[in-house]
Amino acid sequence: MTTNRTFTMIKPDAVEKGHIGAILEKINSAGFKIVAMKFTQLSKGDAEKFYEIHNERPFFADLVQFMTRGPIVAAILEKENAVEDFRALIGATNPAEAAEGTIRKMFATSISENAVHGSDSDENAAIEGAFHFSGREVY
Ligand code: GDP
Repeated sequence: MTTNRTFTMIKPDAVEKGHIGAILEKINSAGFKIVAMKFTQLSKGDAEKFYEIHNERPFFADLVQFMTRGPIVAAILEKENAVEDFRALIGATNPAEAAEGTIRKMFATSISENAVHGSDSDENAAIEGAFHFSGREVY
């Protein structure tokens, strides 16, 4: 079942550099509707749980350190084919490999500090959205 929703975070690097507005503009221009949004900061425990799937990877500690070092914007986005279309809008994990015009190409600096998160499946979009938002925070 497709839900037409995906989950995103504007990561600490992009927030620090003042890119929140420009990234939200790209998201809106691409036809995504924001149905939930908050400015928040992940605790160490939050980041370890959110990225649990990567806990055996060599970069896990760096990833947790990065994702907790400052505030993020978390949001649930709605659009037909949301997960796939949003992954296309953000571009490859490594900005050096991301296509021109993608959010990561424009705003990311490295494979770790890559500006935005986008869910990789409908199932993960639902899990990640529920991690950050209660039902009454989704409109
Ligand atoms: P995504 O789905 O495109 O975000 O990529 P992954 O699920 O593979 O990785 C999750 C996040 O871990 C990425 O967005 C990066 O922030 C970080 N990451 C991935 N690969 C590396 C790496 O090789 N080194 C470091 N330091 N961080 C990485």
